[in-house]
Amino acid sequence: MMKYADLIDENIEELGFLDAIDAGKLFRASKSPDIHLCSHLLRYYAGAADKIHGETLKMSGEFQGYTLREPIGVVGHIIAWNYPSGMFFMKVAPALAAGCTMILKPAEQTPLTALFCAHLAKLAGIPDGVVNVVTGFGPKAGAAISSHMDIDKVSFTGSTEVGRLIMQAAAQSNLKVVSLELGGKSPVIIFDDADVDMAVDLALLGVFHNKGEMCIAGSRVYVQEGIYDKFVQKAAEKAKTWVVGDPIDPLTRQGPQVDKKQFEKILSYIELGKRGGATLLTGGKACGEKGYYIEPTIFTDVTEDMLIVKDEIFGPVMSLMKFKTVEEAIERANSTRYGLAAGIVTNNLNTVNRVSRSIRAGIIWVNCYLVFNPDCPFGGYKMSGFGKDMGMHALEKYLHVKSVVTPIYNSPW
Ligand code: NAD
Repeated sequence: MMKYADLIDENIEELGFLDAIDAGKLFRASKSPDIHLCSHLLRYYAGAADKIHGETLKMSGEFQGYTLREPIGVVGHIIAWNYPSGMFFMKVAPALAAGCTMILKPAEQTPLTALFCAHLAKLAGIPDGVVNVVTGFGPKAGAAISSHMDIDKVSFTGSTEVGRLIMQAAAQSNLKVVSLELGGKSPVIIFDDADVDMAVDLALLGVFHNKGEMCIAGSRVYVQEGIYDKFVQKAAEKAKTWVVGDPIDPLTRQGPQVDKKQFEKILSYIELGKRGGATLLTGGKACGEKGYYIEPTIFTDVTEDMLIVKDEIFGPVMSLMKFKTVEEAIERANSTRYGLAAGIVTNNLNTVNRVSRSIRAGIIWVNCYLVFNPDCPFGGYKMSGFGKDMGMHALEKYLHVKSVVTPIYNSPW
């Protein structure tokens, strides 16, 4: 795994470039932090591989016991297209450390880095048959994995709709263990005491980075009434300076959407917002004549019942809302079927503690956003799924616990 990590570092340009041409990701962002995270994940879990211990059990009477933590077996990983290489290693690295063999199916939109990473696995000396990549479409290749009788576990990242299908297929086949990393509609709550410039930068990054194609996109931005007007003005000014264009160009901040389907879906939500009565503050249409580029878009005067506020758009579209009290912010932030991430911007420690404990989401970023590290568990509440990627919790997904019981002295039988 250490050698595999070294090979990732040696091929950082190539991997970053493949992610850029496959998914439209920014070349500089795919290289760093995305590809750095890949080798970091491999090293983190390589360090964990020889620290997988069982327990000794005192039991009672004549018997004692111990537990073994064993690889769960053959793992099927099915992943999405928005972080092709990062997601590959979020799945593969802990499963390798746990001692599993695996089949990974990349999204049909972005097979290139997965195939290249399989090639690097071979160069790293990982035995044939341990890390396998199968490309293909979801309903055929993905469904073959989720319904397979000899696959013991499916680790899935993708939409909530397909997550349901994965669970159904597991239930109808061999009851394989399932973990799901699904969609989100994350709130970013900005309080009156925040530095407005910093809060605007953070909020724009939270929803426009990776052209909004992020499960953790902070697409619902709640700003307290005291700074709301100033925030709206600055958000509009800064969003207009966001450079949309060629993802290889180092000056670009936002590349093209992944494909035509996604491009059209986002534009149809923007139309819904306009027709539904929301005010278009900035953006709101495709950029240029060619390619799947969309302007960074901000809506104000939105209400919680609008589809642009309820549904995951998975594009560069922010809904900006005003709130008065902490209680109101908590209630509105939680008024979603999702629970993946949330952001809080304030200098008040009491507010941080209260809000972070009250939001039902798997990760809370305070005065920051989109910060990932291999030791920081990541995964959703509610319809954002269950099971964690990253951290020691991810290792547990790929392990079984077996109890072994023996008599202390002579066998009573
Ligand atoms: P998707 O659900 O359409 O596809 C994800 C994967 O599932 C792909 O590999 C696809 O081929 C496969 N698939 C599709 N139908 C299948 C079926 N019937 N059986 C088995 N596999 C099938 O999602 P997407 O459009 O690729 O990605 C966008 C979604 O992923 C968004 O909802 C986003 O929020 C979510 N996502 C979640 C996380 C997270 O960590 N929580 C991270 C990234 C993306």
